[in-house]
Amino acid sequence: MHELPLMEKILTIVLESARKNKVKKVISITLEIGALSDFQEIWMEKYYKILAAGTAAEGSVIKIIRQKGEFRCTSCGKFFHDDFSVAKEAACPDCSGKLNFSGTSDYFIKEMEVL
Ligand SMILES: [Zn+2]
Repeated sequence: MHELPLMEKILTIVLESARKNKVKKVISITLEIGALSDFQEIWMEKYYKILAAGTAAEGSVIKIIRQKGEFRCTSCGKFFHDDFSVAKEAACPDCSGKLNFSGTSDYFIKEMEVL
């Protein structure tokens, strides 16, 4: 349920930017979240819809992009980019070494489509 304060923050940023740019209506926003973020898209969308009601962002679509994490082999030091969920237990394709995951839990608004 910690998606609610996040979405409040996001919407505040969106509406502030809309006001500054004299935007009538927000069509969509694209939000990028880090691979290590435990925010769930389904709740983010739900809360966004509820919070946006009655504002310039009412009815707008939120697109959520989850960044892919990065893995580094602890044996040979090579970097790999892969889907976090798929590669969680993966070994290095080159040397079968143990892979260490690195990623962020950051988020930012990547794009905003307005009228
Ligand atoms: Zn390796």
